[in-house]
Amino acid sequence: MSDHASATLPRNSGQPGRRYVIRGGTVMSLDPAVGDFETADVLVEGTKIVAVGPRIDAPDTDEIDARGRVVMPGFVDTHHHLFETGLRSFLPNGLLLNDGSGTPSADPSYMEYIIGRFAPAYRPQDVHINMLYGRLSQLDAGVTTVLDTSQIHHTPEHSDAAVQALADAGARSVVGYWPGDGRADSRHPEDARRLRTQYFSSADQLLTLAMGGEVAGGPDYAAVWTLARELDLQIAAHALGFMMEPVLQGLARGDNGIAFGPDVLFIHMVHISDAVWQAARDAGVRVSLAVPIEMAMRHGTPPLMKMQQLGMEPSLSSDVETTMTADPFTLMRSTLTLQRMLANEHVFAQPRRGPEDIWPTPADDAPALLLDRDVLRFATLNGATDLRLGARTGSLTPGKEADIVLLDATALNVAPMNSAPGAVVTLMDRSNVESVIVAGKIRKWQGTLLDADLPRLRTELEASRDHLFAATGIKQQLFP
Ligand SMILES: [Zn+2]
Repeated sequence: MSDHASATLPRNSGQPGRRYVIRGGTVMSLDPAVGDFETADVLVEGTKIVAVGPRIDAPDTDEIDARGRVVMPGFVDTHHHLFETGLRSFLPNGLLLNDGSGTPSADPSYMEYIIGRFAPAYRPQDVHINMLYGRLSQLDAGVTTVLDTSQIHHTPEHSDAAVQALADAGARSVVGYWPGDGRADSRHPEDARRLRTQYFSSADQLLTLAMGGEVAGGPDYAAVWTLARELDLQIAAHALGFMMEPVLQGLARGDNGIAFGPDVLFIHMVHISDAVWQAARDAGVRVSLAVPIEMAMRHGTPPLMKMQQLGMEPSLSSDVETTMTADPFTLMRSTLTLQRMLANEHVFAQPRRGPEDIWPTPADDAPALLLDRDVLRFATLNGATDLRLGARTGSLTPGKEADIVLLDATALNVAPMNSAPGAVVTLMDRSNVESVIVAGKIRKWQGTLLDADLPRLRTELEASRDHLFAATGIKQQLFP
């Protein structure tokens, strides 16, 4: 038992006027103006961070003992298809597309099975339990903000279920209003007007709305983008050059009066021409990379080096748990190790000066190696900025909402801590996420998610999974 086990949960956290102080942690603010502290406190009042610094004087205030903990902003995932939670591990070896090559990984493929067969079988109640369970799982892993990119808005009832699920999870989420399967009673994109009025009229809430504005394979993007801009909704879309390069080039040129802008978040950005990249950068387009998925499912090499050359930085995203876990530590480590492999290859491509050289000397224009702090920024502040929430979350900044994680650096897999960013990026996993706070409200406390009946929810999720397999006629088999 740690000495923390006896500490009591601050009451009514997140309520107006309620104050508590997170005392004595190793604080990594992710805000250069606030800085980092080997030992410091974070004072929270209501939904907001009031102060960050050493020895904050706060008499008669509830305290959270954070000794031995890294205290940092919650993680931000800028692209997760949460509706697929019931299909977790269905495609551990799958590719994005069935290319007809006969390779075992191409069949079953993601597009054919998940989007083509399973997605149309979702009823509104399936949307609700799949998204709720997946969102709670990410909250448990320290992800305080996520953009849900579920292509499951078949009907307005499906959309209502999606919004309800993310509201029920009690975390910060962006509801991505993506097209569904295009059935006759679909109301995409026009139903965005109703959703915005019905659920998103307040600027001061955990849920926000974004428009799924795919440029290929769905409705006419020009109408969708135009409506999104009329309603001031961020536009998020997958960008895969091998399927969409001609359309992206048209957008880069501003054809038909529709152009890139800082309100656009592109996902993946693989196999993209220099002309499109240049136009995207110049327009302030944001980019979300799902590094493990892009590598495993043949999207293409994540464009980390290209973005570095252009002076751009990505946010990170988990994409699909059909094929890979959604925990932020996996995303950070994959990004760090891939970029280093590519940058190191650049060094090895140089000539050695002589036999005495162990390694070739890096060229003057050699790409800098990504550092632990870089991927921490990608996974927090960049994510918040990319979802247009940078003024509200993504760093421990007084005045921002209190979206905070406490990570246990005394754990068996981490102690002793010799570098705070290093311990988080290179050693930790979701088991080290001890407490999670969203908008001041404590949602996970000393290892336990609060206000969630997980056994009941799992039973519901399994029933939904059984429905999806039965409705599609796809066989359930643990050893396919
Ligand atoms: Zn995706």
